[in-house]
Amino acid sequence: MSVHNNFIAGEWIGSGDQIANINPSDTNDIVGEYAQADRDQVSQAVDAAYAASAGWAQSGTQQRFDFLDAIGTEILARKQELGTLLSREEGKTLAEGIGEVARAGQIFKYFAGEALRNAGELIPSVRPDLSVEVSREAVGPIAIITPWNFPIAIPAWKIAPALAFGNTVVFKPAELTPGSAWALTDIIARSGVPEGVFNLVMGPGAEIGELLLNDHRIRAVSFTGSTDTGRIVAGACSGRNARYQLEMGGKNPLVVLNDCDLDNAVNCALNGAFFSTGQRCTASSRLIVEESIHDAFVAAFVQKMEGLVIGDALVEGTDIGPVVDQTQLNKNLEYVQIGKEEGAELLTGGEVLEREKPGFYQRPALFIDTDNSMRINMEEIFGPVASVIKVSNLDEAMHRANDTQFGLSAGICTSSLRSAARFKQESQAGMVMINAPTAGVDYHVPFGGTKESSFGPREQGGYARDFYTTVKTAYTQT
Ligand code: NAD
Repeated sequence: MSVHNNFIAGEWIGSGDQIANINPSDTNDIVGEYAQADRDQVSQAVDAAYAASAGWAQSGTQQRFDFLDAIGTEILARKQELGTLLSREEGKTLAEGIGEVARAGQIFKYFAGEALRNAGELIPSVRPDLSVEVSREAVGPIAIITPWNFPIAIPAWKIAPALAFGNTVVFKPAELTPGSAWALTDIIARSGVPEGVFNLVMGPGAEIGELLLNDHRIRAVSFTGSTDTGRIVAGACSGRNARYQLEMGGKNPLVVLNDCDLDNAVNCALNGAFFSTGQRCTASSRLIVEESIHDAFVAAFVQKMEGLVIGDALVEGTDIGPVVDQTQLNKNLEYVQIGKEEGAELLTGGEVLEREKPGFYQRPALFIDTDNSMRINMEEIFGPVASVIKVSNLDEAMHRANDTQFGLSAGICTSSLRSAARFKQESQAGMVMINAPTAGVDYHVPFGGTKESSFGPREQGGYARDFYTTVKTAYTQT
C-alpha cells in the first residue's frame, strides 16, 4: 500500500514513521498508510509558510478567488467519493459524510467571495487636511489544528478564510482522520497555489502540534478540539503573544416544554443526541424536560431509539455508525458505569454491539432520573449517551440549561413565542435553536460559543474575518 505523504513547500515529502488509518466499522479494513512528520519537517513547513507569506499577502484578490472557487468546485464534484472516504475513516453514515463534504465545498466557494469583499473604511479625521483609512491585512503564517469528528468541514472553515485573506497555512489534522485531510491537501496542491502557501504535517498533537504552538514565526493558531487541549494552546500562544482562537467542548441542553409538538421534540432530541454517533460538539446530551410531558416524551423517545439501525457506516439504511475508536468507546462505557454509580437509571442502551464485521459499535444510551450535578451531566462524554433531567417549569429549565461550564449550543421545543423569545434572550450559549436540533448549522453565519466552549472571534461567515485579518489605520496629510 503506498504511503500518503506530508505536503511541505510544494512537495510531497515522505518520512520514516507512518500510521495505518483504520475503518471503525471494520477494523480489518485499512483505509491507508499516512506519513508522520518529524520535527525537522515541521520546521521546514513553517519555514515555507513564513517565506511565502509576504508574497501571498500581496497576491491579487482575483487570484485568491479563483484558487478557492476551483477548490470548492472540485470538492463538490467529488462529494460522493470523498464522503465515502470520510465515512470509512471516521464512522459517520455515508449520508452524513457526503453532506459534510458538500459543506466543505460550499465553504470554499463562500470564502472565495469573501476575498473580494474585504473592504476597508475611509473615515474623516478630527484634524484638518488629514484623512484616515482603515484596512484589513493578512496576519501571517497560521497553524490550523483540527479534531477528528468533522475531518473535512472544520479544516475547510479554517483553511478557506485563512487563504482568502492572504495568510499562509501549516495544517495539522487529527491523528485518527488523516485521509480526508490528505485528500483536501491534494486538491489544494493541484489548484496551483504558490509553493509554501499551504502545508500539511500529520502526526501526534502532543509532539508536532506543540512545535507549531511554540514557533515564533507562527503568528496565529486556530484550534478546534477538547477543552483540555485548548488550555494548552492558550497557554503557549499567550506566552509568546500570538493570536489564538479556540473552539472546544459542549454539554448542550435541549429544553422540552409541555406545549411543544411532541413528534418534533422527539426528532430534535434523537438527531441532536445520537446522529453522528453523538460525536458532535453541538450534540444534545442533556434533555431538560418539563414534568407534565416527561413520561410521554421518554416513552416516544425510547420507541424511536429502539428503531435506530446501528451498523456499518457505509451500508445503506444505517442510522448510527460506530464510535470512532476503542479509546472513545472505553470512555463512553466508563461514563455509562459512572451514571449508574451516581444513581441515574439507565433506561435503555449503552452496551457494546457485535456486528458482522469487527468494529466499535455501541447502542445509544438514555439515562433518566438524573440531576444536573451528576458527572454525566457536567462533563462532555462525546458519544451516544444522553440524559433526561426533569424540571417543573421554564424557570427551572432555564436555570438547568445555563448551569454548565460550557456554552456552545442550546435548544428549546415549544409552541409558545413568549417562551422561545425568553430562551433566546437568557440562554448563555453562542447558538440557540428553536424547535430545531442543537446540532446542524448553516455555513455562512457565525459559529461558536461562550464560557469554556470557545475563545476568540467567531468562526465562519463574515465574522471569520476578525481572526484572519489584522487592522491597519493609515493617516494621509493632504
Ligand atoms: P483533541 O483536543 O484531542 O485534539 C484536537 C487536535 O489537537 C488534534 O489535531 C490533536 O492532535 C491536537 N493536539 C492534541 N494535543 C495537542 C497539544 N498538546 N498541542 C497541540 N495540538 C494538540 O480533540 P479531539 O478528540 O480530536 O476532538 C474532540 C473534541 O473536539 C471534543 O471535545 C469536541 O467537543 C471538540 N470539538 C469542538 C468543536 C467546536 O467547534 N466547538 C467542533 C468539533 C469538535
